[in-house]
Amino acid sequence: MSLSQIACSIHPSPTVALNEEARLLREKGRPVIHLGVGEPKNKTPIAAILGSAAKLNSGDVKYEPTDGTPSLKKAIIRYTEENYDRVAAPQNIIVSDGAKQSLWNVLFALLNPQDEVIVLAPYWVSYPEMVRMIGGTPVIVTPEDGSFVPSFEEIERVVGSYTKAIIVNSPNNPSGAIYPEELIARIVDLCESKGIYMICDDIYHKLVFDGKVAVPAYQYTNKDLDNSKIVAVNGVAKLYGMTGFRIGWVVAPRKLVEILTNIQSQTTTCVSPVLQAAAEGALTGIQSNVEALRLSMQNNRDILMQEMRSFTDVRCFKPQGTFYAMPDFRAYCGSGLIKNSMELSKFLLKKALVVTVPGKEFGMENFLRLSYSGTGKDLTEGLDRMKWALDPNAPPEIYIGDRKIVRDWM
Ligand code: PMP
Repeated sequence: MSLSQIACSIHPSPTVALNEEARLLREKGRPVIHLGVGEPKNKTPIAAILGSAAKLNSGDVKYEPTDGTPSLKKAIIRYTEENYDRVAAPQNIIVSDGAKQSLWNVLFALLNPQDEVIVLAPYWVSYPEMVRMIGGTPVIVTPEDGSFVPSFEEIERVVGSYTKAIIVNSPNNPSGAIYPEELIARIVDLCESKGIYMICDDIYHKLVFDGKVAVPAYQYTNKDLDNSKIVAVNGVAKLYGMTGFRIGWVVAPRKLVEILTNIQSQTTTCVSPVLQAAAEGALTGIQSNVEALRLSMQNNRDILMQEMRSFTDVRCFKPQGTFYAMPDFRAYCGSGLIKNSMELSKFLLKKALVVTVPGKEFGMENFLRLSYSGTGKDLTEGLDRMKWALDPNAPPEIYIGDRKIVRDWM
């Protein structure tokens, strides 16, 4: 079969693939614990349900403007003013099918073949794949000091004549790190002086812990939206735990939004008005569920850190936001039975029925990404099972479901 070379070179999303594997195991009745995918267990905010139900009840569900319904855009304009301190015009905003599509459209709008996009490791798995799909080149910057935050000098060093954009995701999936304000300020300066776009994936910006703040890049420029190099991507998936509603948006100079609208008009026509009504409901309704979600994630983060303390030879950076952590499993990789993080993930799924994501997918081999977006009970049990499977100091017997299992591989 003759297929596109670029399309065939794209890796499947590992989180989606792992989800499927776990679903199949669960279907067979196996008590799988999912520490893989990032999806809070909260219920959809009532205002979102009522918003979409009203739209459905109207029986008037038709095509809408490509860039979003005027009323949702109005809500996003207010959000932009409140959170970014910027006055946006409707022409500065476009709504898409999730932040994922927003990012794809932005990259498609910006990149010529060979253009480079700087991606900071550890990174969200989809950035390099999206850049490659569009024919661009991802340039990965990995912190040399082993931390989760590259230095400004490391970033500046890779900037060249082909650099078109840099993607900044803080708080960061997968590490949970918030980039220091000084780094954000210097990246804004760099982008403005060199004419590089700064794509801020702000999808986790309200999921921050211990009073820390992920300061928006806009704070470090005096330019208005139309003259700025900053492109902000956001959505309802993590803000309200509304992953299934698939609503994301971009705030950008109107010239760019015009191109994004053309792209979307030829690919999607418009985002479902039922789902846009839900997002509008969430954005304009009571906001207490945002704080409730943030608090429950912070609580889960604390459970995770407590559990990690008794995991022999595993170090874990304390996440400052998101609902992910990236513990260092180098002590358990690279020798004998388990050679790398992929093998480690497979081992944990097979022996302990716990889903994790290999760090390699995020540019950090021998680490694992753990999501603590589920229940505290699952988190505790999942980590206990992981310790049982790997840690020689953990008790050799454990109950998985109602079966007592004895560790016989060490
Ligand atoms: N950016 C990051 C960093 C993410 O983790 C995700 C979802 N996992 C997205 C974007 C995509 O969000 P959405 O569900 O709105 O497409």
